[in-house]
Amino acid sequence: MPDLTLVLWYAVSETKSDFFMKNYIPTIGLEIHAELKTQTKMFCDSRNDPDEERPNVNICPICMGHPGTLPTINKEAVKHVLKVGIAVGGQLADFTEFDRKNYFYPDIPKGYQISQYKYPLVSGGRLAGVALTRVHLEEDTGKNMHTGDASLIDFNRAGVPLMELVTEPVIHSAEEAVRFAKELQLLLRYLGVAEANMDKGEMRVEANISVSADAQKFGTKVEVKNLNSFRAVERAIVYELERQQTLLEKGEVVVQETRGWNETKEATVSQRQKEDSHDYRYFPDPDLPKLHLSKIPECARAELEKEIGELPQARRERYVKDFNLPPEDVELFVTQPEWGDYFEKLIADFGGDTKKIKLSSNYLSSDLLGLVKKEPTHWQTHPIAHDAFASLITMLAEGKIGSRAAKDILALLFSSGGHPQTIAEEKGLLQKTDEGELQNIAQKIITDNPKVVADYRAGKQAALQFLIGQAMKATRGAAKPELLTKIFKDLLQVS
Ligand code: ADP
Ligand code: MG
Repeated sequence: MPDLTLVLWYAVSETKSDFFMKNYIPTIGLEIHAELKTQTKMFCDSRNDPDEERPNVNICPICMGHPGTLPTINKEAVKHVLKVGIAVGGQLADFTEFDRKNYFYPDIPKGYQISQYKYPLVSGGRLAGVALTRVHLEEDTGKNMHTGDASLIDFNRAGVPLMELVTEPVIHSAEEAVRFAKELQLLLRYLGVAEANMDKGEMRVEANISVSADAQKFGTKVEVKNLNSFRAVERAIVYELERQQTLLEKGEVVVQETRGWNETKEATVSQRQKEDSHDYRYFPDPDLPKLHLSKIPECARAELEKEIGELPQARRERYVKDFNLPPEDVELFVTQPEWGDYFEKLIADFGGDTKKIKLSSNYLSSDLLGLVKKEPTHWQTHPIAHDAFASLITMLAEGKIGSRAAKDILALLFSSGGHPQTIAEEKGLLQKTDEGELQNIAQKIITDNPKVVADYRAGKQAALQFLIGQAMKATRGAAKPELLTKIFKDLLQVS
């Protein structure tokens, strides 16, 4: 089966980089962290509240690393990561444990971060065509803030459950990397395990980037940290690929290091030469029990699957299979599920009528979306009732109104509600199919425009279009153009 995902993504890819490697093969592997949505922190019962603005209120002796305290494992967080594992088709661990990753930094009060090293919760899997290495669970650090001559630390975030997902080095462009990160964000939201807002730091991307002239061999990689927007992911990768290629072209070498993304300079800057994993002296945390997941009933695959709803890719495929929607509409409905839900409610009573379904999708994604974009808050408080919109579609499908009238009625429904049938009657927008009445209108236009009529008789086809246009105007778009054409032709033939 062709990879439908990729077909759709390519069709709607938003990001475009103007940079293409000439003689070098770019390779990218991503490490993505996401703060998990849980009641409490990873190893204690302090609240996990990303919206808390007062510093150091959600803390306790455990997440502050006081000596003699004992951590306990947050089951909800473990379940969240296992659900991600199921969603990406990864292998769920049977045996798993937590390790200490030792390093010093002011925002890490214990002097180590609890993470997973040898036995991640999830191994392998695939998302957006990208092979995954692993998904594991760890804890977030506090936040350093530098103000003038003082440095402050907020520990509210210290100990918040953090999922880390690592991809294989199989990504080959900035666009592909962005596409992957967006799809992961969407998946986490569908699963309800994370909000993953990049601007809030709830999802953070690190990109490992290398270039090589030899398809059989990887080049030296550089890790770029602190990518806090999709744009930054895109720009940083493009920048780094160019920088590395330029170095190699000059006969220089790429140094393996960690670099940061400087948003204002739009450049990556060297931060430190990379440490090896042995520098962290990982070892299993002796304070935490090792987990045999098969012995924990809530962690059984069948139990977790019950809690997983329809996922983005399944929804895409359903929209294509059931409704044959165009890729742009599919992406709108899948990436903004509230639109997808609205669409589905709208078509619920159409009994699979393909014409009405197509019209619905089309009017939602073009006309309504346009109106909502102009006044988003109005839509939030006054959405158009599904049944009103559905009647509009039905009137349109049955030829009771034309597309011009449908657009006008939609705008009125949007701004002031009401019912399409009533609006159409009041505004005289119902299609006029009464031939006698249209003949009268056409005859008057013929009488009023002798010169145009003469032009038509002299063979000018455009003259007929003008006359039809006048009639449309006179009926305010409510006449059927095909019927008008016929009437004019008949009338002009006679005299
Ligand atoms: P490290 O030991 O330096 O952390 P890993 O092997 O754990 O390196 O890989 C970390 C990330 O770097 C992964 O996402 C992986 O796909 C990516 N990666 C590894 N080698 C390369 C490379 N040569 N070019 C680009 N990315 C790479
Ligand atoms: Mg690593």
